[in-house]
Amino acid sequence: MRALHLLARVCAALAALAAPITACTAHDSGRITVGVKFDQPGLGVKEPDGTLRGFDVDVARYVAGRLGYPPDRITWIEAPSGQRETLLRNGQVDYVVATYSITDNRRRKVDFAGPYLLTGQSLLVRTDNTDITGTSSLQHHKKLCSVSGSTPAQRIKDRYPGVQLQRYDTYSACVEALRNNAIDAVTTDDVILAGYAAQSPGAFKLVGEPFSAESYGIGVRKGDDALRTQINNALVEMESDGSWRASFAANFGAAGFAVPTPPPIDR
Ligand code: GLU
Repeated sequence: MRALHLLARVCAALAALAAPITACTAHDSGRITVGVKFDQPGLGVKEPDGTLRGFDVDVARYVAGRLGYPPDRITWIEAPSGQRETLLRNGQVDYVVATYSITDNRRRKVDFAGPYLLTGQSLLVRTDNTDITGTSSLQHHKKLCSVSGSTPAQRIKDRYPGVQLQRYDTYSACVEALRNNAIDAVTTDDVILAGYAAQSPGAFKLVGEPFSAESYGIGVRKGDDALRTQINNALVEMESDGSWRASFAANFGAAGFAVPTPPPIDR
């Protein structure tokens, strides 16, 4: 554990100097370190007993297996939206599977394997809300919550300047604020919102149509082409051997999503 911390610190120092960080892979230690969400039902959840579950967790585990790391040699790190690039660049994680949209902006700092899931931004409101029905309702000084460092927060800022946007660190904090009437809606990808809705039956509903295209990728350090290629090969296998579909059905069935065709991997 100490060795890993030291390695992360050395790597952080090297990253700060923009030095080559090829030596800074935590998997040199016989373990692999993976960044996931800890609070997003259906995608990445850390249970009170420490168990990790969700679609992203399944993808991360499958990939680790193909890289030669069984489940007991995976170290899980929480990767909140605003910290994903930093965790990768500092060498604190080997890869990130955390509802992480592939964007040109992020590609300046990290590289992506995938895409392994396609989704889109949507809105979650309390079930009794009748005045927010979609993006056309967003002009009227509504209080909206999203997460720092996320594409949905940026999109609201750019396209709906009349909205009062509150940025929290996690979507679960946004959902609690929604439950307590502190905000009017939560916005992010529909698979994430559907997970919260399924977790609290009767409390929340999704409204409107998805208004963006988000392609989830697995983040790796910039220039780590060998790892990116290995991860892409693992994703192709996961999609073709039935594991991808089985995990999708197990994790999103309760939220009412039919299993889609998995996206082609961009090799
Ligand atoms: N997929 C979007 C993003 O990468 C929203 C989900 C998230 O914040 O994790 O920013």
